[in-house]
Amino acid sequence: MTSIPPGSWLGLLGGGQLGRMFCMAAQSLGYRVAVLDPAADGPAASVADRHIHADYLDAAGLARLAALASAATTEFENVPAAALEFLSASARVTPAAASVAIAQDRISEKTFLSGHGFGVAPYKVLRTSEDAASVDPALLPGIVKSARLGYDGKGQIRVSSVAGIGAAFARMGGVPCVLERFVDLACEVSVIVARDDSGASVTWPVAENRHRDGILDVSIAPARVDDALADRARGIATGVARALDYRGVLCVEMFVTRGGEILVNEMAPRPHNSGHYTIDACATSQFEQQARVLAGLPLGDTMQHTPAVMVNVLGDAWFDGPQAAGPRDPDWTRVLAHPLAKLHLYGKHEPRRGRKMGHVTCLGATLADAIATARAVKLDLGIPGADELA
Ligand code: AMP
Repeated sequence: MTSIPPGSWLGLLGGGQLGRMFCMAAQSLGYRVAVLDPAADGPAASVADRHIHADYLDAAGLARLAALASAATTEFENVPAAALEFLSASARVTPAAASVAIAQDRISEKTFLSGHGFGVAPYKVLRTSEDAASVDPALLPGIVKSARLGYDGKGQIRVSSVAGIGAAFARMGGVPCVLERFVDLACEVSVIVARDDSGASVTWPVAENRHRDGILDVSIAPARVDDALADRARGIATGVARALDYRGVLCVEMFVTRGGEILVNEMAPRPHNSGHYTIDACATSQFEQQARVLAGLPLGDTMQHTPAVMVNVLGDAWFDGPQAAGPRDPDWTRVLAHPLAKLHLYGKHEPRRGRKMGHVTCLGATLADAIATARAVKLDLGIPGADELA
């Protein structure tokens, strides 16, 4: 394709923080961004050049987006694949609706991954209560996960008996689920990969991810795994993107087992929270790369120039922490007092516990320095787990 030059309009479906950071990166390259978002004043709409306030399947809204932008992408994996298909009739769309559809459903995702030879945690698809009642006990203890619309640990119930699986399936309302065996984790890692129209792909260094209550808490980059394991993880991400014939930025989240196996947990057809460190620590961020692939520009270099630890800031920081009881704004001056702490706030008006409000990327001359700053930032904001961060 001929590339879409800076100055042109790019379209975006979804208006959350990933969209906000996409807008900023694309605008920095000189593009104008039109965001279609059903919310009135989401994080992306407030920085977009134009906000089309419409539902994802609103034909008039999609037509307005297509009339303005010759290329469109998504920041929200649960955007209806039909919206991407609609746009692709008149605009370039990356990633393709088919790739997004696979990642939207844990059953199709696992079927796809295992069908292409990628390791996944042992699982069974649960569509009926009979399926739930006839699970091989070797899959226990496990986790019942709803096939669709689960994120940040939502739509997941831990189970330790066959009776418990039936109860969990019923609690999910009988929607299609997968039961996954609980994996003995050494650590969790993710790799962001970008792939262009020619099939060329690049990966960023592996991120080591720590979760709290099912939500990403901290990403450490580069991950403290040996080089061979990091190469394998990057190779898996590249392989998944190739198998999907993917265009755009894709995150592949993986479990590293104590036995040294790498299992793919899930994939996100968009930039990912665990790749936020790339904004401050790499030559090209995941968001700039999303704009580059969308516009048909050459891929940017993914070199990491500075060790980094990304700390997520949830709404809890408005309620807890070293200051008086909330909700009240955290004392950002404490965070900003660290010269290598890079604060990113998403402009969300309503802090809620568990809601992603921002993140802080802590840089350092060494990873140990970055970790020390991340620990201090956690204490500044009253985010639990400073002591465990080593
Ligand atoms: P998910 O939404 O599937 O990414 O799950 C959220 C978090 O729950 C993961 O990042 C893990 O920390 C944990 N988890 C999910 N599935 C498993 C599993 N099969 N074995 C061990 N931990 C898991």
